[in-house]
Amino acid sequence: MEEAFKKSALSVEAPTERPSEYFAKYVFNREKMFRYLPSEVFIRLSEAMDNGAPLDRQTADVVAEGMRKWATELGVTHYTHWFQPLTEGTAEKHDAFVEHDGKGGMIEEFSGKLLVQQEPDASSFPSGGIRNTFEARGYSAWDPSSPVFVVDDTLCIPTVFIAYTGESLDYKAPLLKSLSALYKAATEVALYFYSDVKKVRTYLGWEQEYFLVDEGLYAARPDLLMTGRTLMGHEASKNQQLDDHYFGSIPARVVSFMKDLEIQALELGIPVKTRHNEAAPNQFELAPIYEECNLAVDHNMLLMSLMKKVARKHGFRVLLHEKPFKGVNGSGKHNNWSLGTDTGIMLMAPGRTSEDNLRFITFIVNTLMAVYRHNGLLKASIMSATNVHRLGAQEAPPAIISSFLGTQLTRVLDHLEQSTDEALVSMEGKHGLKLDIPQIPELLIDNTDRNRTSPFAFTGNRFEFRAVGSEANCACALIALNSAMAEQLMSFKAEVDAFMYEGLPKEKAIVSVLRKYIAISKPIRFDGNGYSDEWRKEALRRGLDCETCCPLIFDNYLSESSIRMFERTGVLSRKELEARNEVKWDTYTKKIQIEARVLGDMVMNHIIPVATEYQSRLAQNVNRMQHIFPAEKAKQLNRQNLKLIEEMAESTLFISERVEQMVEARRVANRIENEREKALAYHDTVAPMFEEIREHVDRLELVVDDQMWTLPKYRELLFVR
Ligand code: ADP
Ligand code: MG
Repeated sequence: MEEAFKKSALSVEAPTERPSEYFAKYVFNREKMFRYLPSEVFIRLSEAMDNGAPLDRQTADVVAEGMRKWATELGVTHYTHWFQPLTEGTAEKHDAFVEHDGKGGMIEEFSGKLLVQQEPDASSFPSGGIRNTFEARGYSAWDPSSPVFVVDDTLCIPTVFIAYTGESLDYKAPLLKSLSALYKAATEVALYFYSDVKKVRTYLGWEQEYFLVDEGLYAARPDLLMTGRTLMGHEASKNQQLDDHYFGSIPARVVSFMKDLEIQALELGIPVKTRHNEAAPNQFELAPIYEECNLAVDHNMLLMSLMKKVARKHGFRVLLHEKPFKGVNGSGKHNNWSLGTDTGIMLMAPGRTSEDNLRFITFIVNTLMAVYRHNGLLKASIMSATNVHRLGAQEAPPAIISSFLGTQLTRVLDHLEQSTDEALVSMEGKHGLKLDIPQIPELLIDNTDRNRTSPFAFTGNRFEFRAVGSEANCACALIALNSAMAEQLMSFKAEVDAFMYEGLPKEKAIVSVLRKYIAISKPIRFDGNGYSDEWRKEALRRGLDCETCCPLIFDNYLSESSIRMFERTGVLSRKELEARNEVKWDTYTKKIQIEARVLGDMVMNHIIPVATEYQSRLAQNVNRMQHIFPAEKAKQLNRQNLKLIEEMAESTLFISERVEQMVEARRVANRIENEREKALAYHDTVAPMFEEIREHVDRLELVVDDQMWTLPKYRELLFVR
């Protein structure tokens, strides 16, 4: 037992094997299923994993027993349903593999019932009132499309989390529904081009940005500890202006953290591949090889919790907040998104023939239409009280959703839009149709492809949704994107079929609809500088959503077009959307509330006492100078200190008055019952005071004796490794 335990995921020594040998060591993947399950059960489980076939109770029992056997050999004693509530992160409740044996003793057991379904005490997870109003209980249910894995001494079972009345209380359930809607809609469209396609899969490759700070310094910053970001702190004299961090060599202590993290990630089946420094000091990025979307989302959630754990082992804390430091870049999570068939065709990549390219253009143009129609919703899907600091702050991405295509692809779409019906498709005897589509290079490497200001960029064989926050669950953005795309493809199919019904040949029908879409979706295409003021004005003119107030952006979820789209695709009902928005507004309010409290405490307990202390020290000095020097001379020598004392007194006065007003504004806002109104009150009356207070605090930081300043400064937080 002890020996086995040592071999479990708890062990952290670098394995001596190669990554291919320890990859997925702690995952009950197909290879282990094959080994630990009878073959007919293995077949039935594969059916459930691939095609969503339901699992009967007997099969589940055998699967559970196989899992338990495998896990026990790794020293595992507990299991948990691992789910993704509407808060950040994941939730789990651990139970031991033991049951009463009926004779007063215990036996190790894990039944199919416990594998498949559980009732966590769900009352403390946010539900936007669904559970209160409709049904008091929620349950978690196994998602067989994501394999179970072992962390420490626990077998983790990925699950959806649902109210007894059927509403989703998590991110995974609607994500799975959106994937299934997209799979159906995209397969039907893919069949226009390839008759052998049975399934279209959605792929996701995320790139995770993060900061590392020294654990000791972190502990001395109540704001980092409680809110994940610095609420005060003057910029260091040097930050990222030399651009010397990006792709620079990685500091040794960080490398050792990364290595450890990568080994543990690989053992959990997360195919991590890329690591590098990011733009800001102490900022880094990690990216895996892309995977099927649902699995990729789970892996990102798992990686984020793994990062936190491994960082502590190396004396670091990992910051996933979107904007931990003022004045340097924040962190995001690029979501590389694409569709591919079971026959191996990447639908968003150009091909060799003009038929392949018509397929390529079909999927690109439908994506543009979906993003155009739902640009406000997509913005809402990435919006949060924390990500709002990053959006529109002269760093990717702006608070307006637009799509970058690059010059090559733009030229192709323009050509298609402008050509006449006759020129476009001509009948050519036995060779069938000839499409007039300009040659598209198979590798679409556009120089301008590095337009980092675009929130939704085409990058050769996929779109890259770059507005997602570093801390967010990717599922939130992908639920919106997948559903919008599914609905769009459904509409496309209906229109093409209608033309074909009228007698138009298939290609001609497709091209006709695409030309219309290219014209309609034009406002979403933008290749210029997304940070410029001109773009804001232009975007407004184009009718794109330019709202910047977070609680108002959430309204997009409840617009008639969003509700229609989510209901038509079967992903979320009006009731669910309403409930989820309640959670969004409530979370926004709580985040601002906590920040306000922490800021108030820090100001009263750290800043004002220290500033006052230093001030009286200066005042003493002024007094003494008057004793030492003749009055005129003393006056001259004291001039600088007197000025400083006055400035400090004014700043501390300003700060304490503002903190008082902030407390009052909170009191008023807290009395509001309606979640949306309350969030708006926090946005309008509480949040704006943060910056005002900070400005004065940061001024004090510059003048107060460094020895007396109790908080670690930016230069320490960002440069100590
Ligand atoms: P960059 O930083 O230049 O955008 P990276 O290599 O850091 O590139 O990240 C690219 C990410 O995109 C990786 O996670 C990669 O697996 C993923 N990716 C590549 N091709 C596809 C695709 N067709 N669909 C989805 N993701 C993809
Ligand atoms: Mg990228």
